[in-house]
Amino acid sequence: MSFFLSEFTARSAANRTRFKPGVRRELAQEIDLAGARRALLLTTPEQAALAGELAAICGDRIAGRFAGAVMHTPVEVSERAAAHAREIGADLLVAAGGGSTIGLAKAVALRTGLPQIAIPTTYAGSEATPILGQTENGMKTTLTDARVQPDVILYDAELVATLPPGMTVTSGLNAMAHAVEGLYARDRSPISTMMALEGVRAFHEGLPRVMQAPDDLQARGLTLYGAWLCGTVLGQVGMALHHKLCHTLGGTFGLPHAETHAVILPHAIAYNEAAVPDLLAPVARIFGTDSAAAGIHDLAARLGAPLALRDLGLAQSDLDRAADLAAANPYWNPREIRRDPLRRLLQAAWNGDAPQIPNHCQEEE
Ligand code: NAD
Repeated sequence: MSFFLSEFTARSAANRTRFKPGVRRELAQEIDLAGARRALLLTTPEQAALAGELAAICGDRIAGRFAGAVMHTPVEVSERAAAHAREIGADLLVAAGGGSTIGLAKAVALRTGLPQIAIPTTYAGSEATPILGQTENGMKTTLTDARVQPDVILYDAELVATLPPGMTVTSGLNAMAHAVEGLYARDRSPISTMMALEGVRAFHEGLPRVMQAPDDLQARGLTLYGAWLCGTVLGQVGMALHHKLCHTLGGTFGLPHAETHAVILPHAIAYNEAAVPDLLAPVARIFGTDSAAAGIHDLAARLGAPLALRDLGLAQSDLDRAADLAAANPYWNPREIRRDPLRRLLQAAWNGDAPQIPNHCQEEE
């Protein structure tokens, strides 16, 4: 089957991406290659030890460290990190961590114009996008700006090998969400579709393998390859209902990012599969199931992913407000977004029910 479309626009980012187990040990050469002498190294507090390892490798090329990255990129943290970058006269940002750390580097790049090297340690895929999500006053907003796209990405399979099993599976599902929503994006191209399906394939094969053998660097490399492909799709095309729901639940109710993606994905895909079953059929084929939503749900359940919003700390009394917020200013979606079916979707996700795949959209409301 060809993915040809009679009309499309394809975008691509100007960055350099390296895959190699242990590539972080070449960071000093990468800083030199970037022509920088005073890098600011960003991590979360939990990954301060990684910052220590990288600082030891790079010597005085690292002029400062900021180990204050937190989930959902609060604006006040970004302002503090940007002030620190200016104080130390930084000429490069190095982000070593997951989407939160890479998001912080992007937010600092936006404020300072500094170039960035990203060293991802999860599958979130932010390093491959020109997108920045920021939280202020309980609301998460996103912007797309070429200035926030990292210039160099160093994918080191040894770094994801330390991801605990729980985060491995939720972060993998987070990445797959970018690819699956990319398949029905109205601005998709044949190239984004090929990358999305190859990304889903990589996780379908790689995730069970890394859950079985967390230190298998070949399998970890395969999942990182999936993360790169899925993240690149996210950077090229618009996202829809699934991402809107996750942004609402994360930004307003403080739910953890990857876990929320893992719970919502089968439900959001089931909602849309009713409208565009043909566009999701290749995913069902990869999973060997009748529906893409069922395949994703089965994989998530088999690998022990969280299946219920109630287990992530959301109160049942928050569901009405979540449905109101997600239905207000919705992202473009292949199926019309109506508040009541959305409320039912959220209830099912809160309960931990299997996704319901309606026969056709007219059955709803
Ligand atoms: P994260 O970066 O918040 O990391 C979660 C926790 O895991 C942190 O404590 C971190 O230190 C730890 N951790 C990370 N890698 C580890 C490893 N290899 N071993 C052990 N611990 C590790 O989680 P995330 O899911 O990667 O990122 C979520 C954030 O990224 C959200 O704010 C989300 O909005 C953002 N994001 C943005 C984009 C984009 O394109 N802008 C894309 C995806 C995600």
